[in-house]
Amino acid sequence: MKVDISKGFDIGALHFNVVVDGPRMQGEHTFGVCCHITQTIILRDNVSADRLSATFLHELVEAVNNQFELQLPHSSICALESGLSQALKGLGIEFVIGGSNGTD
Ligand SMILES: [Zn+2]
Repeated sequence: MKVDISKGFDIGALHFNVVVDGPRMQGEHTFGVCCHITQTIILRDNVSADRLSATFLHELVEAVNNQFELQLPHSSICALESGLSQALKGLGIEFVIGGSNGTD
């Protein structure tokens, strides 16, 4: 099942936007960022469908971590990304931006 994340999502009273931004992410050594000031998750384009889904989950966990002041170490955020990615993929859930689902 493809879940379109382009409309964003809510955490508490805040709405987070999700955008794909090629130019901004160029040269970055990361596949995504979560800006807590603008409540925007920015994802790199031209990545595989699996990478896009995993990166979205990572940044979603980053957003939850920040909003609820969990102070999770980054290693825990990465572990949550890994576990959630595997479980959701196994359930057939794939995150996509609009009609795009990555390069493969
Ligand atoms: Zn991170």
